[in-house]
Amino acid sequence: MSELAIFGGPKIRTEPYPQWPVWDERDLQAVTDVVRSGRWGGYPYPGPQTAELARKFSELQGGGYAVPMINGTVTMEVALRAAGIGWGDEVIVPAYTFQATASAPMSAGAIPIIVDVDPNTYCLDPKAVEKAITPKTRAILPVHLAANMADMDAIMELAEQHNLIVIEDCAHAHGAKWRGRGAGTIGHFGSFSLQSSKTLTAGEGGILLCQSAEHAALAASIIDCGRPHALGGGPEDPHGLSTQGGNFRLSELQAALALVGIQRFPEQARQREEMAAYMDESLSEVKGVRVLKRDERHTTRSFYCYIFAIDPQDFGLEHDLLCAAMEAEGILCETGYQAMHNYDLFQPQRSKLAVPNTFPEYFNFKDMHLPEATRASEHEAVWLDESIFRAGPQGVDEVIAALRKVQRNAGELKK
Ligand SMILES: *Cc1c(COP(=O)(O)O)cnc(C)c1O
Repeated sequence: MSELAIFGGPKIRTEPYPQWPVWDERDLQAVTDVVRSGRWGGYPYPGPQTAELARKFSELQGGGYAVPMINGTVTMEVALRAAGIGWGDEVIVPAYTFQATASAPMSAGAIPIIVDVDPNTYCLDPKAVEKAITPKTRAILPVHLAANMADMDAIMELAEQHNLIVIEDCAHAHGAKWRGRGAGTIGHFGSFSLQSSKTLTAGEGGILLCQSAEHAALAASIIDCGRPHALGGGPEDPHGLSTQGGNFRLSELQAALALVGIQRFPEQARQREEMAAYMDESLSEVKGVRVLKRDERHTTRSFYCYIFAIDPQDFGLEHDLLCAAMEAEGILCETGYQAMHNYDLFQPQRSKLAVPNTFPEYFNFKDMHLPEATRASEHEAVWLDESIFRAGPQGVDEVIAALRKVQRNAGELKK
């Protein structure tokens, strides 16, 4: 009989991982209090829970005016609109990320310009950004992916030279720091998600950090049906700023859950960071595995999942076969995102969206050269689920044991 669980052998991990989200009596109490208060929704904006969340979150990240809203996709669209970026403007996005990073600019009418990533971090490559800048470029949208951060020094330098807005997609980077500064406080905007898989969650939700008081007021107006809001994104104010908007307000019930989550966050982040360091060390001893490079300027790591790369030749397997075998061993892992140009959403022939159809010349993927994102998505990347890092050192040891077991039996998988 085979040793591999995928062919009926014994699994490496038999227990389920610790559940996510984590909750206790405090969450029940917080929700109950909101229910009893009768103020459940987001109108008038911001309610007391939402205003408190804005204060606590900007404290957690270390600055900026926080504007809570319904999710971490709308946050990016709102940032662009608050900065006056829209129809026909070019916005540079990385080729290796969740599709929301590129669909948000399209919702604002802008054109996502897809550029390649740095193979050391899988984050936006500043050299590729520089080459993609044209007179129509208005913004750069770096993503801090998994346990890494994009090179914010190089990106901010380019932005200053070319007078561009920077919106950091921090859906994976709650609590992360770059040279001691919080993710999302370095660019003009930081976009955070509170969706159920993220490391700070309210089930659904998002927070936009704005560095300028005007941007925050406009963001609050955009998410509150265009009502005028005070500078800094405070309450409705007839003398504040207003613009066209819709209803993208966060509800008080969700803000209350996020506030309890913030109480737990620092200790969870500390544990994840400790386990990630142990994972780096353990993985570096496995043949054919490449640990992504942690930039020295990335002073605090806090992440959504953990990505490493394999060299399929050296390891002895392609990443899809490896992940399928690891899953069978009871290890939560996957091959991760597609390269951006492969998402259906962006194919002019298949999409009904205005932007790809109006500007088809931008979506000519045949001529687009994105080797690093393609290599990551098709051959190299292995994504480990965050819950592994809440399973203690045993969680890390099991990943290594499963990798070695699958590697030893690679021949069987290739048959
Ligand atoms: C989750 C995620 C988003 C979107 O957040 P939602 O709150 O689900 O809309 C955006 N970008 C990245 C990189 C994400 O992982």
